[in-house]
Amino acid sequence: MGSSSDVVELAERLIACPSVTPAAGLAFDALGAMLAPLGFAVTRFQAGEPPDGPVENLLATRPGPAGSRHFAFAGHLDVVPPGEGWTTAPFAPERRPSPGGELLYGRGAVDMKGAIAAMVAAAADVPRDAGTVSFVITGDEEGPARFGTVALIEKMRASGAIPDLCLVGEPTSVSRLGDMAKIGRRGSVNVWLSVAGREGHVAYPHLADNPVPKLVTMLAELDALELDAGTEWFQPSNLEITDLMVGNPATNVIPAEARARISIRFNDLHTGAELAARVTEIAVYRRIALSALA
Ligand SMILES: [Zn+2]
Repeated sequence: MGSSSDVVELAERLIACPSVTPAAGLAFDALGAMLAPLGFAVTRFQAGEPPDGPVENLLATRPGPAGSRHFAFAGHLDVVPPGEGWTTAPFAPERRPSPGGELLYGRGAVDMKGAIAAMVAAAADVPRDAGTVSFVITGDEEGPARFGTVALIEKMRASGAIPDLCLVGEPTSVSRLGDMAKIGRRGSVNVWLSVAGREGHVAYPHLADNPVPKLVTMLAELDALELDAGTEWFQPSNLEITDLMVGNPATNVIPAEARARISIRFNDLHTGAELAARVTEIAVYRRIALSALA
């Protein structure tokens, strides 16, 4: 194990198992069959209920000496649907010559069966006494992702085996392998805003209540928010107005409702709950209903 040709062969075995999200079955069988001979105790379980579940998950652990550190590889075996335009079958891996050597083609070669193959090959090279090694693998990262990694973390918490270190194998390289490593990911909050007014004729504004100026004022206030100036590792948090909906076909009618949507990407200075509370505070001040927070 450990040579690049082994990694490619492992990746080919994983790619050859169709696993359009949510993945189950064959791809997990293949990964389990790779890990068991390396001394990993492989646990598979399903989590969640329809419509976003059940989701197949895999937790594999090879314990190190008592008191040693615990390192986890995390990732997913599901892939997005192949789409159109393939010159070969997407789940039939193929090595093709390229200027730098060979390239491996197949759905999931990059995101992220190639990474999982590299993790397996790397784990094979880690001495048993170096510490505990785990694989935390979900079958639903590309879909709703409600019962994948979340359920795996709950399971690890319940068993008291939380890793000290974790490497997520998501592709982040820009132009060549390994040229970018990330230590975290920004959070995301989406907010739907809805302002209710009273419909009326523009000629009789005193009988109506126009929701549009209220919404526009609030959006200007939100847009002007400076959430922070960035941190050592992350760019500044940012709020974007992503949609504005009135849909009023009449030139002479004050609409009954105006809606908007905003999206916040935030760094490690914030939590989603705190940002949602902040937007809510501005909305309450402006007497605007937040129809949903997600
Ligand atoms: Zn991925």
